[in-house]
Amino acid sequence: MKCAPFDYVRPSSVEEAVTTLRQAAGDGKILAGGQSLVPVMAMRMARPSVLVDVNRIPGLSSVEVDARALRVGALTRHALLEAQDEHPLLAEAAGWIGHTAIRTRGTAGGSLAHADPSAELPVVAVATGATVTVAGPDGLRELDAADLFTGMMTTALADDEMITSVRFPRPDRWGFAEFARRHGDFALVTAVVTGFGDGLRVTLGGVSAAPVRAHAAEEVLAGGGTARDAAQAASQEIEPTADLHGSVPFRRAMAAEMVRRALARVGPGE
Ligand SMILES: Cc1cc2nc3c(=O)[nH]c(=O)nc-3n(C[C@H](O)[C@H](O)[C@H](O)COP(=O)(O)OP(=O)(O)OC[C@H]3O[C@@H](n4cnc5c(N)ncnc54)[C@H](O)[C@@H]3O)c2cc1C
Repeated sequence: MKCAPFDYVRPSSVEEAVTTLRQAAGDGKILAGGQSLVPVMAMRMARPSVLVDVNRIPGLSSVEVDARALRVGALTRHALLEAQDEHPLLAEAAGWIGHTAIRTRGTAGGSLAHADPSAELPVVAVATGATVTVAGPDGLRELDAADLFTGMMTTALADDEMITSVRFPRPDRWGFAEFARRHGDFALVTAVVTGFGDGLRVTLGGVSAAPVRAHAAEEVLAGGGTARDAAQAASQEIEPTADLHGSVPFRRAMAAEMVRRALARVGPGE
């Protein structure tokens, strides 16, 4: 199928992009890598009347490193995240996104804004306590990644707001594990374990509408429990739904196994 007709605007600044979105009054869409938006437009599941192509806006592809975090511009491609070695967790996660062609075009900002429950970067954003910088008509605001994702493919972004950068803190320790049917497929379950100082965070993707912290599993670990006990706790506290790709018991079993594998890279014994 072909996309429905739309106007095409290519702003040269964030301010111009936001103004164009505001003028579109809820009927405009940002075009970044196009890897998610263009397919849904081609299937006519999205019919924006204005496409705001942000690819020529300068300064949105920069990657800045400091002692504690990596700040990536919204237009940073997945391939660049995969290639960098300053944030190894982000690099590993990015390597699981689709295939080379998709990673070459797809962007960090696009992945977070699209908020697919099975996507890798949103899980890493929640697992690391990332901060998302958003531009809107009233200027910039910052959001915790955990507050960005509000449900299935929905976010706290207003229609006239745009992600400009994401700051991913660098964990002291981390583990990542993912199960997908074939390499390049969306994850059925992703588990990310992150350690900042004392304590471990356990975050899961693919098991609910948005990335979710496994607090019961974290409490097991804080109490000196084993990785196997924590994995079991994680599998019981989530509320997955059945779909074409797997039943509820299957997703629970996969969640336990992915948490166990991610934890194996961090330390607590079996
Ligand atoms: C075959 C295939 C396989 C894939 N496999 C995976 C996978 O395994 N894992 C995975 O995570 N992803 C996967 N993807 C999706 C890919 O990661 C996309 O790149 C990503 O979801 C969206 O990024 P984008 O830059 O392409 O955004 P676009 O497609 O351009 O935009 C997506 C949405 O985000 C909005 N948007 C974009 N940028 C911004 C911004 N800066 N601020 C606010 N809103 C914005 C757009 O308006 C649109 O609604 C796959 C895609 C394809 C086609």
